Amino acid sequence: MAEIAIKLENVSFSYPTNEGEEHKAVNGVSLDIEEGSFVALVGHNGSGKSTLAKLLNGLLTPTSGRVLVYGVDTSDDKRIFDVRSSVGMVFQNPDNQMIATDVEDDIAFGPENLGVPREEIIRRVDWALEKVGMSEFRHATPFKMSGGQKQRLAIAGVLAIKPRVMVLDESTAMLDPKGRDEVMAVVRQLNREEKMTVVHITHYMDEALGADRLIVMNDGKVMLDGRPADVFKEYELLTKIKLDVPCVTRLAVTLAKAGMDVDPTITDEEALVDSLCRLL
Ligand code: ADP
Ligand code: MG
Repeated sequence: MAEIAIKLENVSFSYPTNEGEEHKAVNGVSLDIEEGSFVALVGHNGSGKSTLAKLLNGLLTPTSGRVLVYGVDTSDDKRIFDVRSSVGMVFQNPDNQMIATDVEDDIAFGPENLGVPREEIIRRVDWALEKVGMSEFRHATPFKMSGGQKQRLAIAGVLAIKPRVMVLDESTAMLDPKGRDEVMAVVRQLNREEKMTVVHITHYMDEALGADRLIVMNDGKVMLDGRPADVFKEYELLTKIKLDVPCVTRLAVTLAKAGMDVDPTITDEEALVDSLCRLL
């Protein structure tokens, strides 16, 4: 059994309202996120994904229930520093995450705030730039970069604090297809090579295909949770809550239902083409 990176115990969160009535943005969620896993989180707008993301690193603390980050309760004010350095967050808009006018300074900002010694900061900046494939941009101006480059820079900034978990909240949503591919390649590589735990919130179902685990949120609750192929099998339920199922899965499930000898859990286009060619 892998170590548990983040544990949610019956977590609820309500934003304060003027009217006094309570709406739970996150409603009774219990989850164990395993160290080293790649978890994709999907759900329509307002289902509670961003609220959940902010609960994972103590930006918000539960109204009830507990969030434990490597055993540390995020509601423990004295340990919030540990929580924030364990769980890094990358947000949707890369422009809002840029701090400095120079790439190097921008990445150094996080570790500087944590009081990391100068030489170590230099090492981390080198390492982070290399990890996101942007070493040659060291002295570039962030504001002139493409969306994909800016988002990779934001990831480098998070990497420089050496978190064990990275949470990406729709960090590919504002990017063009090329930028999305660049960012996803970096994130997958960090998960594989650095064994970084990744929680990736996205509305692109194809980005969820490669995950170890897919969690579907609806109305503040976890509706489905499992291997992506198994979750996508529930595509009627997913369609009902207005989520897209990857085209390849929809096709495979429909063909299987129509009586063809096709594995309905196929998530790979090549594999589907292969089995169709065999049948024909
Ligand atoms: P998602 O990221 O899935 O779109 P959110 O976590 O942003 O969902 O929102 C969940 C619910 O909480 C929604 O009903 C939303 O309107 C509400 N909400 C989100 N942020 C705030 C806020 N700052 N104040 C009040 N309500 C909020
Ligand atoms: Mg959101």
